[in-house]
Amino acid sequence: MNFLLTEDQELFRRTVREFAAREIAPVAAEHDEAETYPAENVRKMGELGLMGLTVPTEYGGAGAGAIEYALAMEEVARACAAHSVVLTVNVSLVCEPIYKFGTDEQRERFLPRLTRADIVGSYCLSEPRSGSDARNMETRAERDGDHYILNGTKNWITNGGVAGLYLVYAATDPHGGRIGAFLIEADRPGLRAGAKERKLGIRASSTTQVFLEDCRVPVENRLGEEGDGFKIAMTTLDGGRIGIAAQALGIAQAAFDAAVAYAKEREAFGHRIADFQGLQWMMADMATRIDCARLLTYRAAQLKDRGLPFSKEAAMAKLYASETAMWVTTKAVQIHGGYGYSREYDVQRYFRDAKITEIYEGTSEIQRMVIARHILRD
Ligand SMILES: Cc1cc2nc3c(=O)[nH]c(=O)nc-3n(C[C@H](O)[C@H](O)[C@H](O)COP(=O)(O)OP(=O)(O)OC[C@H]3O[C@@H](n4cnc5c(N)ncnc54)[C@H](O)[C@@H]3O)c2cc1C
Repeated sequence: MNFLLTEDQELFRRTVREFAAREIAPVAAEHDEAETYPAENVRKMGELGLMGLTVPTEYGGAGAGAIEYALAMEEVARACAAHSVVLTVNVSLVCEPIYKFGTDEQRERFLPRLTRADIVGSYCLSEPRSGSDARNMETRAERDGDHYILNGTKNWITNGGVAGLYLVYAATDPHGGRIGAFLIEADRPGLRAGAKERKLGIRASSTTQVFLEDCRVPVENRLGEEGDGFKIAMTTLDGGRIGIAAQALGIAQAAFDAAVAYAKEREAFGHRIADFQGLQWMMADMATRIDCARLLTYRAAQLKDRGLPFSKEAAMAKLYASETAMWVTTKAVQIHGGYGYSREYDVQRYFRDAKITEIYEGTSEIQRMVIARHILRD
């Protein structure tokens, strides 16, 4: 087993790190404060090839693997977690299922625009009355000749209102037993995004409800077969969880770096606070947990790259990295003392941003369920 990145991977990480430091970090606090979507930087992430990172080059992607994807997510999230959620939804939750389950025609129609960031995608599974229990959805897709008519409401949709393409999951029978996946263009009549949610963190990302009101979608926009939707949704989340683990890692790393720098500067009782053993042990634990999270994330990514099963390992990585991000950012605020509580310092943004990684793409409780299911099945 190799714990070290290749030279190419190190170079790639440096490139993304420099891009994020130059373009993203300087505007992160401003977008967070104003709750504005960073359209210009999303376009730049597209130019750099990040928005279609794992899509094969024939469809406009960069043809990179899951390790490179985790590296990119970590570096972007280190600068701004909100930018990284736009990236992960586009790459993992929209481009990858289109590539994996789509027809050649669907790949050609949608992937080049998504990978260049001419449009961004969104993934619409959650509803007002179903999140963890996603199968229990109320959105319906009724067949009408060579069309489906969709009705329902999707909740908490990342990239809602700014997306050009919505991947919508809907039950195709009246009892909700069979679920289909539908690619719906933003300008299709009957699809409408609601108002932007006012959130605790990742405030630069746009999160809205999405309403489907007699939205007519041609059969050729269905992804996979009619009853494949739930399988597509769950398989997609397995890959997505590597992205969220890496996002959590980036947030934790940013908070750790800020805490160490602050501890070296701040003085109390005639010493740098970094000289106090109480804080040194805190920093040692922070660094150790971040490394554990990174190793779990790379392991899941490596399994995915090798075409091996990775569902349990992705859930472990997501669970551990997100809880690490919450723990590390809490300690980082503590090391900053009162200044950590001020909105003048970035560390409070990391603390607010970390929480979402324990909630979306399956809460920590759901990750534990997934892991336990694998343990008991083995
Ligand atoms: C900012 C943001 C962005 C999001 N982006 C998207 C998106 O782009 N697309 C999308 O489809 N969704 C998105 N979501 C939705 C997200 O995936 C859900 O919020 C999440 O899956 C939890 O669902 P819920 O909110 O309905 O909570 P619930 O499912 O109601 O859960 C409430 C609590 O009960 C616990 N719980 C539920 N079932 C069990 C169980 N069996 N055992 C133990 N505990 C359980 C949960 O862990 C949680 O603690 C987003 C959410 C947010 C906040």
